[in-house]
Amino acid sequence: MPWVQRMAPYTPPEDLDALARRTGRTVDDIVKLDANENPYGCSLRVADALARYQHFHWYTDPDQKVLREAVAAYAGVPPDTIVLGNGSDELIDLLCRTFLRPGDEIIDCTPTFGMYRFSAELCGAIPIDVPRTEDWHVDVDGVRAAISPRTRMIFVASPNNPTGTWEPTETVQALQDLGPVLVLDEAYVEFSAHRSRVSLVEAGQNLVVLRTFSKWAGLAGLRVGYGVFPREIVSTLMKIKPPFNVNRAAEIAVLATLEDVEAVNATVTAIIEERDRMARALGRIEGIRSWPSEGNFVLVEAADGSPRRLYDHLVSRGILVRTYAHGRLTHAVRISAGRPEHTNALVAAVDEWSEMRGTHD
Ligand SMILES: *Cc1c(COP(=O)(O)O)cnc(C)c1O
Repeated sequence: MPWVQRMAPYTPPEDLDALARRTGRTVDDIVKLDANENPYGCSLRVADALARYQHFHWYTDPDQKVLREAVAAYAGVPPDTIVLGNGSDELIDLLCRTFLRPGDEIIDCTPTFGMYRFSAELCGAIPIDVPRTEDWHVDVDGVRAAISPRTRMIFVASPNNPTGTWEPTETVQALQDLGPVLVLDEAYVEFSAHRSRVSLVEAGQNLVVLRTFSKWAGLAGLRVGYGVFPREIVSTLMKIKPPFNVNRAAEIAVLATLEDVEAVNATVTAIIEERDRMARALGRIEGIRSWPSEGNFVLVEAADGSPRRLYDHLVSRGILVRTYAHGRLTHAVRISAGRPEHTNALVAAVDEWSEMRGTHD
């Protein structure tokens, strides 16, 4: 397909083994703050449940019956409004394949998560960029102005990755009123002071909400996310998804997690505390600006220097963070909240960078 030839590939973060070798450390010595993972890992019950399980030779249930019941109880919505995916990434892909034909358009409120554009382009659709405002909110008037007869979908992450920005309900409603399918991505909602918008999803309406076990529940490596959809969209997604898209290990892990939510929530609380402590500490360092975040990460801007040097300095101290090619983020890094000792190491390293800044320019 010509549009596939034209597509830019997804740029993954640097490989951990390669980085360890390059910096003369072991993988376990690296402070990994680049991918918004839960630094406490998943529920301890997951390993037990997997060890006890006897039926890995059986295929999974294409209807996801047990999983949908369990996730519905957690999310507070009816089971028949839920579809699970191999990560919410798969649901983004399935939604694009449901709604997009070559030449259609989607609205992408940048800077944001890269998979919306990626999956839309894979369908031959054209992402229309609507830059976020100065303080990283969705520019609703800008979105309205960018809508054309070919616009099929609007993607909004709230809290947004990588800016940490939460969108108020008025914004969600104003975007929903514009007509195209509104995909509200709540991958980080468990870290927010606000509540999920899953209850706004209604049959016959154009709002879908995506969530995931990758971030709060520490299951990124097992790949399981879900969405809450109007029932018509559920039918389509259930029809077109690969029948066994969520594997058995992921299913067992989710069920074990949902029986241990209190313990997992304790790690979420610890992560939120570290996020805020990190932001405060970084805010006191000269040459650094950090943005308020409702995710498990903080977007940090190096006031003058190139972010590459901040990145390189952190890597030389064994700390891995995320950088961006996006025009407005060339001076920024996204730092995931870690354990207290990770925060301490990070703040010490940024302090060092700040002091070296003047002398080595
Ligand atoms: C990490 C992330 C996802 C992807 O989650 P998976 O369930 O692991 O595929 C989706 N949306 C946003 C905004 C994310 O940052």
